[in-house]
Amino acid sequence: VLIVFEGGDGAGKSTQVTALARSLREAGHTVTCTREPGGTALAESVRALVLDPAHAPVSAATEALLFAAARADHVARLIRPALERGEIVVCDRFVDSSAAYQGAGRGLGTGHVLELNQWALQGLVPDLTVVLDVDPATAEARRRGRGAAADRMESETRAFHDAVNAAFRELAHRAPSRYLVLDASDSAAGITRAVSARVTPLLPT
Ligand code: C5P
Repeated sequence: VLIVFEGGDGAGKSTQVTALARSLREAGHTVTCTREPGGTALAESVRALVLDPAHAPVSAATEALLFAAARADHVARLIRPALERGEIVVCDRFVDSSAAYQGAGRGLGTGHVLELNQWALQGLVPDLTVVLDVDPATAEARRRGRGAAADRMESETRAFHDAVNAAFRELAHRAPSRYLVLDASDSAAGITRAVSARVTPLLPT
């Protein structure tokens, strides 16, 4: 079972990934917790390269290609093997982040970016994608709270973040049965409960 969390910067994804993984482990499941960009040594190196200010500005196409290449490694070497062992994989960001950031935010087009990622995914589709829909004010407060240095996107405009969030909602709208869209300004505990309720029926017995 593959469960993915998506959302803009400051949406609270990592808190929810940690909470879900903990509750699944407490219930006796074997969980692989991972993230993108990254997740394998190669993919983490690609992430570091792309986010390294020494290489800025990285073009949108370069970013899309490198993140897709990182995803190909992550899917082939970590996610698929874990799924084949019957584990539950919980991932902080996945292909929708590429569609939203490089496709919508940076203008490559969500369709083109999704097409590019077919190479990386090889047919893999998450069982559930949780979108934490973050309003701009909450996102900005959270980004500031954890320090601007951690966030490459601090310099991006409000319009960029709006386009990214709209893309996540639009992707969810296209396939509502595989998505759960939640308001990221709700309490962390409330979001954790809503995610659990949706995940429970997907779990192996
Ligand atoms: O989610 P996380 O904080 O790990 O993401 C690191 C940075 O990379 C963030 O600024 C995020 O907006 C950006 N990112 C991106 N395109 C992606 C995935 C993440 O620009 N496909």
